[in-house]
Amino acid sequence: MKLIFLGPPGAGKGTQAKILEERYGIAQISTGDMLRAELKAGSEIGLKAKAVMESGALVSDEIMIAMLAGRIDQPDCAKGFILDGFPRTVPQAVALDAMLESKKMVLDAVIELKVDDAALVDRIAGRYTCAKCGAGYHDTFHKPEHSGVCDKCGSVEFIRRADDNRETVAARLEAYHAQTAPILPHYAAKGRLHSVDGMADMAEVTRQLISVLDGVKAA
Ligand code: ADP
Ligand code: ADP
Ligand code: ZN
Repeated sequence: MKLIFLGPPGAGKGTQAKILEERYGIAQISTGDMLRAELKAGSEIGLKAKAVMESGALVSDEIMIAMLAGRIDQPDCAKGFILDGFPRTVPQAVALDAMLESKKMVLDAVIELKVDDAALVDRIAGRYTCAKCGAGYHDTFHKPEHSGVCDKCGSVEFIRRADDNRETVAARLEAYHAQTAPILPHYAAKGRLHSVDGMADMAEVTRQLISVLDGVKAA
């Protein structure tokens, strides 16, 4: 299954992609995570992306398209993938169309997670992840079962993203509305777009996603 998750920062794309990754045996491809890995490694791409990411703007299409092209050929994508954070501009969507066509791949669905801007600030400001296994948590909405201990791996170290602060969120939301939301009609015109209510609680969003995907598989 080849899927795209679209939605503003904090909509729940990463949270849901991780759940579906396990359920369907497909790979979550988070271009944000890939960029953060480049940054950590101190690579040329990481150095170029750092200031852009911290300001809440988007990294250039050229860098992102090249990054994705290499990623979907990896063996873990053989059963399919969920694109989480790509495409984020119309040129990225057009490049992805061409890339998939040349590989004879067809997208099964593009799913939009709809969340009100007002709710996103709190989601992002409270977000943190396990430093060891990457499991996602939230100060209010998703605490570990035992305070300070990761449910998945038992680690006691957690990290917060440098760009997850109230100041940067406004710029990221603006980038979403100006540059990413215009992709929605691109996929609606192809009859591939489905919308899910991302304001619901996590388990309910998962149920809605599974129901959309069951429909897609049966079609
Ligand atoms: P995205 O990948 O779209 O930026 P995340 O999946 O990282 O978003 O979610 C942002 C934050 O909100 C995380 O801390 C996550 O635990 C929390 N979260 C995700 N889905 C929900 C939900 N349905 N209700 C409340 N909080 C949520
Ligand atoms: P979120 O889903 O919370 O917005 P991501 O982890 O997807 O965050 O992305 C973090 C940052 O990485 C973005 O604000 C942007 O600077 C950069 N980025 C990630 N994916 C892309 C992309 N496809 N195109 C341009 N910039 C990207
Ligand atoms: Zn962990």
